[in-house]
This record gives sequence, C-alpha cells and structure tokens, in this order.
Amino acid sequence: MGSLDALFTPASVGLVGATDRPGSVGRAIYENLIATFDGSIYPINPNRDSVFTRECYPSVAEAPPFELAVVAVPPESAIDVVHAAGKNGVAGIVMITAGFAEHDDAGATREADLIAAAAAHDLPVIGPNSLGVASTPIGLNATFSPTRPHPGSVSLLSQSGAFVTAAIDWANYHDLGFRHIVSLGNKAVVDATDVIEYWDTDPGTDVIIGYLEGIDRGRAFINAATAATPETPIVCIKAGRSTVGARAAASHTGTIAGSDRAYDAAFAQAGVRRVGRAETLFNHAQMLAEFPPLQTKSVAVVTNAGGPGVMAADAIAAGPLTLATLHESTTTHLQSVLPAAATVDNPIDVVGDADADRFQAAIQAAAADASVGSVLVVAAPTAVLSYPELARVIGDLRQQTTLPVVACLMGGSQAAEAGTELTNSSVPNYVDPVRATDGLATLAHTEQPSTSTPSPPAYDDVRPDLARDIIAAHRETGTVQLGVEAMGILDAYGISTPHSEIVTSSSAAQQAAKRIGGPVVMKVVSPDIVHKSDIDGVEVDIPPGAVADTYERLQTRVQQHQPSATVSGIQIQEHIALAETTETIVGTTRDPQFGQLVVFGLGGLFVEVLEDTTLRVGPITRSDARAMIEDIKATPLLRGARGRPPADEDAIVDAICRVSRLVEDIPDIAELDINPLVAGPDGVTAVDLRLTVSSSPSADNGDR
Ligand code: ADP
Ligand code: MG
Repeated sequence: MGSLDALFTPASVGLVGATDRPGSVGRAIYENLIATFDGSIYPINPNRDSVFTRECYPSVAEAPPFELAVVAVPPESAIDVVHAAGKNGVAGIVMITAGFAEHDDAGATREADLIAAAAAHDLPVIGPNSLGVASTPIGLNATFSPTRPHPGSVSLLSQSGAFVTAAIDWANYHDLGFRHIVSLGNKAVVDATDVIEYWDTDPGTDVIIGYLEGIDRGRAFINAATAATPETPIVCIKAGRSTVGARAAASHTGTIAGSDRAYDAAFAQAGVRRVGRAETLFNHAQMLAEFPPLQTKSVAVVTNAGGPGVMAADAIAAGPLTLATLHESTTTHLQSVLPAAATVDNPIDVVGDADADRFQAAIQAAAADASVGSVLVVAAPTAVLSYPELARVIGDLRQQTTLPVVACLMGGSQAAEAGTELTNSSVPNYVDPVRATDGLATLAHTEQPSTSTPSPPAYDDVRPDLARDIIAAHRETGTVQLGVEAMGILDAYGISTPHSEIVTSSSAAQQAAKRIGGPVVMKVVSPDIVHKSDIDGVEVDIPPGAVADTYERLQTRVQQHQPSATVSGIQIQEHIALAETTETIVGTTRDPQFGQLVVFGLGGLFVEVLEDTTLRVGPITRSDARAMIEDIKATPLLRGARGRPPADEDAIVDAICRVSRLVEDIPDIAELDINPLVAGPDGVTAVDLRLTVSSSPSADNGDR
C-alpha cells in the first residue's frame, strides 16, 4: 500500500460525484472542500457541466491530474473509479460511498473487489462507508460533517462517522483543535494500525484519540501503538464489550480470557489508555492537548465551598494525584491576605463570603509555591462572588503560569456563562469536583518508557519434537481434550512436574506408589472428566498401605457420579507438600485478534470464584511475567505474608515464559491450563494439566 501522505497532505483533490444538488452528500463534501482547502479542487461528475460556478469534468481521466480522490458515487460505479484513479496517477482514495460489506452479500463481494483494486494500484483507500478525512494544516475538509474542525494537535480516528461529527462539534464548543481526522468506515484497506503508524511519524500530532469497535491485526496494532505511545498518548474507546459468548468451561483460562479482557490487556501492554465514555475521551484529549504532563503530582485546591472542597480532596487523595503540602512561607502569606476564618492549609478555603479578588490572592499564592504541580479552583455560587470575574482571575493565572490550571465552577446557568469565559482562556472547566480531579489525573499518567521492546527469553532446552509427538499420539486416538496423561509436554518444556505414572490395575497402582515413594496422590484419568475434584476424583496424601483401597474407591466414584465416563486409568503422583506454598494458575488461550493470551493468577479449586487473575498478550517476556505477578491481589501471599516464606518468583516467571514459548511453538494447542502450579520457596511444580488440541491450528494475527 502506498504512503498515507496523499490522504493527509494532498496538493490537489478530485471529488468524484461532486454536485450542487441540495441535500446531497456530494454537495456537502464540495462545500466543505472549497471552504478552506489550500490546494486545487476538481469536481468530477459525468452528468454535469459545472458544480456551482466551477467547471465539472466528466471523468477522472479527463480531469487535470490530482493526488487525492474523494469518491461519493453510487456503489455500482465505485470500483471503476478506483481503477480509473489508479491509472491516472491518483495516490490516495477516500471512499465515502456506502453499500459494501456493511450492507449485504453483493456489497461484501464489492468490498472484496475494492480491496483487490486498491492492491492492484498500490493505493491507500479509506473506507468505504466513510464520513471522510480532514487535515487542518492544509485546510482539507473532505468530509460531510455539518461542522468544520479547527486546527489543533489532536488527531482523531473513528470507526463510526457519527462519532466524528459529534467529536467535531464538541471540540468546537470547547475550543479544542484537530490535526487530522479520519473516519475509517469499513476499514477495508487502511485500518487503525496504518493510521497510528502514520501519525507516529507526524510531528504535529500530540495526542491520538480513537473510537474503535474491532481490531483485525491485533499484533500489528500492539506494535504500532507500543512504538507511538511513549511520545504520543493514545486514548481509545473500544466499544462492543460483550464477550465472545458463553463458552463451555473446558478450561479455566478460556472462561477468564473473554475477548474484552484481551483488548484490555493489549491496550495496557501497548500503552493505550482505554476509556469507556465519550466524555472521558474528549476530556483526555483536551487536557493532553492543553497541558504538558505533570512535573509533580501535588495539587493545590482553592475553594470557597467546604463540601465540594472536601470532595476534591478525597478524589485527589485516592491517587494518582496528591494534595500539595504548602510551604510555610505560603501559609504565612495566606494568613496575611485571608480573613481569620479561612483555612490556609491545602485545600485552601477562602470561605463563603469570598469575592473574586480574595480568590485571586489565594490562587496566586498557591501557584507561586514551588511544591505545587497544578491548581484546581473549586467554587460554588454566592451572593458576593461574581462567576465571570472569577473566570477572568483564573484565565489570568493561566496566562501567567505553565502550571496546569483547572476550574470547577459548580452550578448550571451561572456556571455556563463563566464556562464560556474559561473556554476562551483555555481553562478546562468541570461542574463536578471529582471530574475536575479526573481531568487533572490524565496528566499524571506516565506512558511506558521508550525502551525497545524486550524479547521473550530464548530456551535451548525445550523439546518441541517430544511435545508434538505426545499431541500426535493422542490425536490418533481421537482425543482432543487432554489431561494429566499429557504432562510429558510440560516435561519437554522444562516445567517441573511431580513423578507420575498412570496405571490400570490395583496391583500396578501399588507398585507405582512404591517406585515413587512416600505418600502419593491418586487421580482419575478420563477424557470425559474436566474437573476431577467435582466427582471427588482426586485423593491426596495416601500412605502406601491405602493405595489399593483408594484405587477401588476412585473407580466406584466415577461409577456413581458419571457412569458414562471412560476411565483410561488412575494417575499415581508424588505428593507435594502444600504447606507454605501457593496454588497458582498459568494458562493460555488464543484470541482471534491478538493470538496467544496468557493468564496468571491465584489458582486451585476456586480460581473462578476468587477471580484474581491477570492477562497478557504473548509471547511473554520476563518483565511481562514479573508484571503479571505484581498485578494480582494475592501478590503479598506470594511474597511471604504472615511469616510464610516467600515463593520462588524467578521460578514462576520462568514457568510463565516457558508456557508461552510452548504455545508459540505448538500452534495445535488451542488452550492450556496448569492449575495448580504449586509455587513454594524452592521452585514451582505443575501438578495438573488441562489441554485442548485444535483440529486446525489457529494463526497468530500479525499480518493482513
Ligand atoms: P482438578 O483440578 O481436576 O480437580 P487437580 O489435579 O488440580 O484436579 O487436583 C485438585 C487439588 O488437589 C489441587 O488443587 C491440589 O490442591 C491437590 N493436589 C493435586 N495434585 C497434588 C499433588 N501431586 N500433591 C499435592 N496436592 C495435590
Ligand atoms: Mg486442577
């Protein structure tokens, strides 16, 4: 695909389907185009000689050469236009036309033709079904948005055209400017990943905001966003939170790793901030465009309102912000300018009878204090306070300082009037103290460091051949759900397991127990039984003398609980002393968008009840694995809470990375659960395994 330059910096535009027919999309785009575009504009339409006063060309071939084609023609002619554009030197296309895959089967065929035509001519195509593209540095507004974006440093990408028009209108009202805007539509050719890669190299884009419903090339997206976010914050709505549907709980991991958690994990790994509300997205954009990141997280609050001041203080104390501790010189100064009833510590309460002048004295003093990183002014209307005057005072401070200054002038109609004044002075204003704090907190977010992505550890002791043999052997018997009988796969990957044997008679059980030595654990082995404990199919700490009885008892239990289950044997396992250990879970599944997902958390029988797990898109690096251990609530348990010896974290990290490597090497493994991975002070042991083999290996998703 050719460079996206033609989409965002074209010198000339041909509008195919240009018209002056009232109410048409072709006219709306034409009017937006001629309003501000610096370059040449050529209307093209075989049915017209002119559009308004301009000459209209019958076809792309007959128009003067141009760089960007904006296409708003009936769907039937769209593909021909792409070919004509490709043959006549056009370097980019915005396909406004709808009636493609979003519409019907014929449309889906047309979309395939569009993709083929774009590839044939090496053309970047936006859409189809797009609202258009805008690029304010050159005055390009090739959209049919009813309102026009102002210049600024925020670039917006959206899968929804409606979201774009709403964003432009919001931004205009709040005096927020855009750099580039792209409505991706069906994203048949150019997708969010391409656009992020392009904006990453655009020095004029300070912030990227997005509305997305799905990502097709998950790994490529993570790579593009990871590269961009250290410099350029990306804030995204990812709508459509519903999971892939209720899945049969063949593995814990499959249940835990719904597709929405995959998006959460991917975004977090790539440094993309995911938000849920349009309002939050816009606020992030505004704050990030308006202010630099916070130098210090300590906030000074100046207020005339006790209650709302307390709300702000609570919200700040909840983190990541802190309430600034004012210097003694500041408090002394405040004492001299404020009445005796005032509070001179932070939050600074100028009291209910304060006018704008008194506010000003306090605000100036707070901003001058070197320990203050930002100022939040919280006010409620009173008979002596003029909101417009207060707005001017805050606006003045905004001019004088580089500190982020945020206002919370509470109320309705009074607040609205002052709000306009604040907007004009580039001071974000909120009606709610908690929201104002949230707004400031967006500046405290530290993007990941810009070090190059570390690679997963290399292991030269792993045996993919052995693992494949075990899977192949079971596939021959038709089994796709494997259990403890496949634990050799873990041995092949250097993940430690207890000594185990599978037996099919009571006497063999006794002999096996003797070989293993000490007390043993006995487990029912059956492809039909997913959770052995559910049918009391696991017996632990069995002395040699009780092995034979236990063997019979386990057989009887299966007969009682699940008579239809085929029992392929009983596993005799070395008993691992569980005292001073923690049962954890390490699991993997595959996501259609992101590929390998790895879960780590508190394991054992109650894994779904406790819900203390974390997720990453693989392959997992050591630092990912360490971060996963940090992520869960049970971390203190692993680190030696209540005098327990701390677990061997290096061994946990190693096991997570080895599991990730295993599923990377063997695409046939669809899902895998090690639950529990027993983590103790001297290493880890995988005592159970659940594994689903896929009939067709799933591909990881990094390419088109
Ligand atoms: P399932 O998950 O199918 O019920 P497991 O093999 O995970 O069966 O065993 C259930 C529980 O039994 C584990 O969570 C663990 O507490 C205990 N257990 C299993 N194997 C051993 C072992 N080798 N040593 C000590 N305890 C074990
Ligand atoms: Mg288990």
